[in-house]
Formats: sequence, structure tokens, C-alpha cells
Amino acid sequence: MQNTLIMKFGGTSVGSADALKNCTQIIRDAKKDWNRVVVVTSAMSGVTNLLLDSAASASHGKVDSLSETEATLREKHFAVAAALIKDESLREQTKAEIDTLIQSLVDLCKAIAVLGEASPRAMDAVVSLGERMSVRLLEAVVNDAGIKAQAIESTEFIVTNANYQNAHPDFKVTTEKTRGILNPLMDAGIVPITTGFIGATPEGAITTLGRGGSDYSAAIIGAVLPADNVWIWTDVDGVMTADPRIVKEAQTLPEISYNEIAELAYYGAKVLHPKTIRPVLDAGIGLRICNTFNPSHPGTRLIASIKSNGKVNGKVIKAVTAIRKQRLVTIEGRGMLGVPGVAARAFGAVASTGTSVPLITQASSEQSICFAVPSELAPTVLSALEKTFSNEIADDDIDRAWATDDVSIITVVGAGMRHTPGVSGRVFTKLGNHDVNVLAIAQGSSEVSISFVVEAADTDNAVKALHELIVS
Ligand code: ASP
Ligand code: MG
Repeated sequence: MQNTLIMKFGGTSVGSADALKNCTQIIRDAKKDWNRVVVVTSAMSGVTNLLLDSAASASHGKVDSLSETEATLREKHFAVAAALIKDESLREQTKAEIDTLIQSLVDLCKAIAVLGEASPRAMDAVVSLGERMSVRLLEAVVNDAGIKAQAIESTEFIVTNANYQNAHPDFKVTTEKTRGILNPLMDAGIVPITTGFIGATPEGAITTLGRGGSDYSAAIIGAVLPADNVWIWTDVDGVMTADPRIVKEAQTLPEISYNEIAELAYYGAKVLHPKTIRPVLDAGIGLRICNTFNPSHPGTRLIASIKSNGKVNGKVIKAVTAIRKQRLVTIEGRGMLGVPGVAARAFGAVASTGTSVPLITQASSEQSICFAVPSELAPTVLSALEKTFSNEIADDDIDRAWATDDVSIITVVGAGMRHTPGVSGRVFTKLGNHDVNVLAIAQGSSEVSISFVVEAADTDNAVKALHELIVS
């Protein structure tokens, strides 16, 4: 018997009656092998977006679609209740609790419409309702199946700062509270089922950890208890060598290191929220990504570091990923040569717009700085740069700041690159052979990945071509 396991179920894993049935069986099976099991749930798939849309419409004074939203939410949750909760009083009670939450969505949206604005705090109150509904549903379904479980909102023990929509946990207080609340339940043989994604300030205001944050919740709970393992249940067989929608031959990676997955998560592979990795790695906890719809598949295990030369079946490159809808911003001018602080001021200006920069390159001539930003933020970034450098632009030291059309960042990941000369040569030869033009290049100093920028239209072609280096 192993000790403590955290299992997080993503939106599709709790997205339908069939899915919840699988979750229940997975929990039942886990209880056979583990003394203590904690379940973390996302909102049912689609619900978080629906909630955000309702709040956004309300902030423009539009509440006419609210009744439709209410109906959709009822239908989604109640269909599962009807299919899987046999005990009538439990079913009716669960539906009533969910209904109360739906009513509070209506009240919140009406208040937002009156104010004509949704503060980040109000947004979090709205968007937290998805997990608050799903946790009750899952609790009832699991109990009805004869497994002792209790729903607890993570607002009770994940204590965060007041950075609404992207809150940061206070690990010290969270550790105490999480142990204090979850341990007694587990000691009594009960499976705590808790909300992913949400926490609360010390004053009790609801916060969220950022989109996709349920993975992070599972990692936080795992780290503070501590657990031995965190399993992330999703709708694919683990981490793949590429997006299977682009590359038919994409395969599941049986193992991947924390470094490698960090690069993949950062560069657009939606396998795991990037913040998940730190807490589990620091606490030495095993992480596994597995498929609710194919539970006997071993999925992907995270390992501390890649042994020997890091090659899997003799292959150095393990995975290739793409982030779309980026633009390359360039600041250029001969007068930049040797002027200290241009880069610092440039990135200061970018930071002031709240934009994070996934890729930077600077030519050694120092006559330009070039970096990527998400397309929708490019205009804001450009005006911030023009403002910051208005004097230099007036003096012609800087000619201009400009942005390309949409581009994609392609990243190849593999820890073995560090020990293997010539990887970038092979990558760029491959791209050249497929007529993909490379606009900019950056290599992470960890040498676990190489990223480069291609035109939007070349994205799929580049990913497919590079995948040949993995499978061939
Ligand atoms: N429900 C939240 C979201 O969709 C959190 C999560 O599912 O991880 O962003
Ligand atoms: Mg997710």
C-alpha cells in the first residue's frame, strides 16, 4: 500500500456522465493501492468560458443571454445528476445546491451590469462558480457509488494574495490549513474532493490561480501535505511528441523530465499548467499525466532528470510544439550601438503593459532588439515603446519600433541536446529542406530546447518536418 495520492480531473474528465463514471471507477481503483486519496476537480468543460462570457457581457450592460446561460448550466450539471445519482434525496439536494450557485451567478452578473464594470475581484467570484458546482456534483456521484467522499472548497485552505485572476499562494499558511482540514478527513477514510483553480485571500475573498490553474492547485496540495504522487487526469494519453491534430504519427512519451516539460508547457503544449512543475519538483513528488478515457494506459511519468545522454531510442529531440498568434517586435536604429540601458528600458516598457515575452533575440551588432509578444498585445506594446523612446526617435538614434504580421514560435525539446553537437544544424537543415523560412532563433541557456520563429502559414509544415527527426 502506498501512502498519499492527489488526483486532479480536468474539465473533459468531469465533462459528462460517462466521464464522471470513469472518474468514479478511477477513484475506486486508487483507493485499493493508496492509503490516502485527495481529488481535485476542474469545472465541467466549457463552463469556465461560459461564466467568463456572461461576466464580460454583463460588464457591457448585456444580461439578456443570462437566462440561456442559466439553462445551459442547469442542463449540463443536472443531466449528470439524473444519470448517476440514484439516491433521490441526494440527487435533489445536489441539484438544489447547484441551483443556488447558478442563482448567485445571475445576481453577480446583474450587479456587474448595474456597475457597468467587472472588477478582477468580481470576475473571480463569477468564474469560481464552475468548480464550486462541479465539486458538489462529483462528491454526490462518488458517494452514491458507495465511496465515502466529502466536498470541500479550496477557499478554506488555499490562502493567496489579492492578485485576482492570477493569485499567488501563501505556502506557509496554506500548508497549515490544508493539513488541518484534509488530514482528519483522510484519517477517517474519507476522500476529500476539492475545487481546483480557486483560493481565497486571508480576508476570505475568492481568488483564482489563472486559467488552467487546477493543475497548479493539485501541485500545491501535493506539495504542502505532502503527497507521494500527483496524477493529472486529462483526455489524452499523456504528453505527446507533437499535437496529434497536426501530426498523425504523434506518440505518447512514456517519460519526460521536469526541465523538458517546463519548456513544453511554456511553449504552448497544453499538457500542464506551467506553474504546476515547481512545487512538485521542489517537494520531490512524482507526477504523472494520464487519460480518464483510457485509464489502463500508463500515460507519461515525470522524472527528475534524464539519465545518461538523454536519448530516447537514440533520439535527442523528444517533442515539438508551436505557439501561434505571436508577433515579432523589433526596435532598430544605428544610434542604439553601445547606448547602455536600451534593452532594460525596452523591457521595462513592455512589462508596464503587463505583457510577458516568450522569446528574445538580439543581434550582436546591437543595432536591433527583437522579441515576441502575443499578437493582440502588439499595438499596446508598440505604443509603450514609442513613448519610452520618444527622445531617441526624435534624435534618430532609434529609427522605429515595429511588429511583423502573425508568426508562430516553434520549440523543439529534448534534454539530450546538451550533450549532442549538431542538433540545431539538423533542425535547420530539416526546415530548409521543407522550405520553411526561419525569422528568428533563440536557444534556452538550459539547452533543453531550441525555439525559432516562422511565418504563421508555415506552422504546421514546420512541426511536421521536425517531427520526422523524432520518429525517423
Ligand atoms: N476551470 C479553470 C479553467 O478552465 C481551471 C482549470 O480547468 O484548470 O481555466
Ligand atoms: Mg487544464
